[in-house]
Amino acid sequence: MKIGVLALQGDFAEHQTTLQQLGINSIQVRLPRDLDGLNGLIIPGGESTTIGKLAVAYGLMEPLREFAKNRAIWGTCAGAIFLSKDAQRNQPLLEVMDITVERNAFGRQVDSFEIDIDIPALETIDPDMKSYHAVFIRAPLIREVRPPAEVLSRLPENAVKGSGRIVAARQGRLLATSFHPELTEDDRFHRYFVEMAK
Ligand code: GLN
Repeated sequence: MKIGVLALQGDFAEHQTTLQQLGINSIQVRLPRDLDGLNGLIIPGGESTTIGKLAVAYGLMEPLREFAKNRAIWGTCAGAIFLSKDAQRNQPLLEVMDITVERNAFGRQVDSFEIDIDIPALETIDPDMKSYHAVFIRAPLIREVRPPAEVLSRLPENAVKGSGRIVAARQGRLLATSFHPELTEDDRFHRYFVEMAK
């Protein structure tokens, strides 16, 4: 099992740390040839416009779309935006997931927050752990999920903003989360993704 982490911009190092703690071999991906031999790829949080522009400059757009056809990709926050078909703005997107996202849906950096959410899909990883502590940093909301994409999680009723709105989705081997599992000690999402990549 070998997982790549797109290392153009953003918090790729934190994803590598979590993978390392799980004993998973990971490499930093910057060029198309780095994708060879990988089982899956994580696109980190950061700034989706910057990640998109650098992916264009490094000739990664088509190789990433090819990769998405038969291997697993997980986008966290900016990475989720980059996977989407529509970000309601003009910016380079991979357009591989049937989701529409709303960038900076909670406002500015100061409006970042943490909240416990329910993610039933994670019960396959650990049936005893119930809620999931999610970190949102200038996060997007997933405004629309169209089949074959499916909703994995929504914000609870006690959310200050966006209650009931979608924050995680899956489409086959593609996964999108508005929040940052790489910034917490809870490694269930990384384990879930490794299972998807098998
Ligand atoms: N606000 C960023 C964007 O729109 C995403 C923030 C993040 O990845 N934490 O691209």
